Amino acid sequence: MHSEIQQLSLSSFENEKASQILEACVHCGFCLATCPTYQLLGDELDSPRGRIYLIKSALEDNNFTEQSLNHLDRCLTCRSCETTCPSGVKYGELLDIGRNFMEEKRPKWQSIYRFLVRKFLSTPLIFKTLGYFVRHSGISSEAIKPEQVDSKVLLLGGCVQPMLAPNINHSIKNILARLGVEVIEDSPGECCGALDQHLAAPTDALKKIKRNIDSWCLQLNSEVKVIISSASGCGVMVKDYPELFEPEDPYYEKARYISQHTQDIAEYLAKQDLTQFKLSESNISYHEPCTLQHGQNLGGLVESILERLGYEKKAIKDSHICCGSAGTYSIFQSKLSKQLKDKKITNLTARNPKIIVTSNIGCLMHLQQGSSIPVKHWVELLDG
Ligand code: SF4
Ligand code: SF4
Repeated sequence: MHSEIQQLSLSSFENEKASQILEACVHCGFCLATCPTYQLLGDELDSPRGRIYLIKSALEDNNFTEQSLNHLDRCLTCRSCETTCPSGVKYGELLDIGRNFMEEKRPKWQSIYRFLVRKFLSTPLIFKTLGYFVRHSGISSEAIKPEQVDSKVLLLGGCVQPMLAPNINHSIKNILARLGVEVIEDSPGECCGALDQHLAAPTDALKKIKRNIDSWCLQLNSEVKVIISSASGCGVMVKDYPELFEPEDPYYEKARYISQHTQDIAEYLAKQDLTQFKLSESNISYHEPCTLQHGQNLGGLVESILERLGYEKKAIKDSHICCGSAGTYSIFQSKLSKQLKDKKITNLTARNPKIIVTSNIGCLMHLQQGSSIPVKHWVELLDG
């Protein structure tokens, strides 16, 4: 589909990027079958193809309404459609441009509500105080120090995770200590920018992203060559940093450098000798976050590590479908989010596991709210 966007409110980089993505879509409709909102609502405008039409109509002809924005709001940004698409349509990048462009149609009360939620979740001091009251779990083992340091890594602190589930990064530090790896921790409470980016606040997002890039570039050196992310939602954002800058921007090369040196903890552990570890529980169900399987294209990696440690892989129905967490989706689209959560828990508990494990704090907290069995990060099973 030929497209030439020339919106004055967008940069030439965004105009060109949107045109290219729109041109790549051939309207085959393959993506409809794997879109959670299309499955639930059965409306073409709540499918990837329908949303692409809405964005095209807005960007090319300025033809969009508050209702168009509602259809974009209902998208989970799960990127399951990207995994399915045979034409390589970068739907997630187009969605960010379309959302920012259509934001002017949002009713004032909604803008204020979204602003307050965004500020609350990204202001460490406020969130830290309240985080103590909704904490998922505390530290459950003694801290270990490496006997001999063979290498060093930088571990992303994350914003909500240290408050809600501090045992995740604690377990990672212990596992890496047993492998002779010293962990340097990035300051907890610092956001990767995903929250602002997906809530149509790109200026605030870029401020955080540039601050992170500058800080992490300084911390990467001859000894520290790897940045480790323990939350796949943050990991995908950091790996996608280069997509936010024009190639001429001074931050583009630095963003590429950070992206190339960032690994999910699963990528890092997959290359290590793990024979000294065993799982504290092997009757588990693994929920693979969209940000890991569709965002980072690491589908199957965690289960391959768990299998090395004695877990017997179980097929989970609709494992490619989002659990409904999706950042702030569970706050702004609570009904759809709950429907997806209920289905996910039914599928994850079909074989009576003792624990559900996952790779992202957002999925973990969301699933725990509907689950009668514990939900943990999978790394916690290696530090039992
Ligand atoms: S996004 Fe991809 S799968 Fe969906 S209609 Fe367009 S080309 Fe087909
Ligand atoms: S990102 Fe997810 S919810 Fe949004 S259109 Fe694609 S498959 Fe559907």
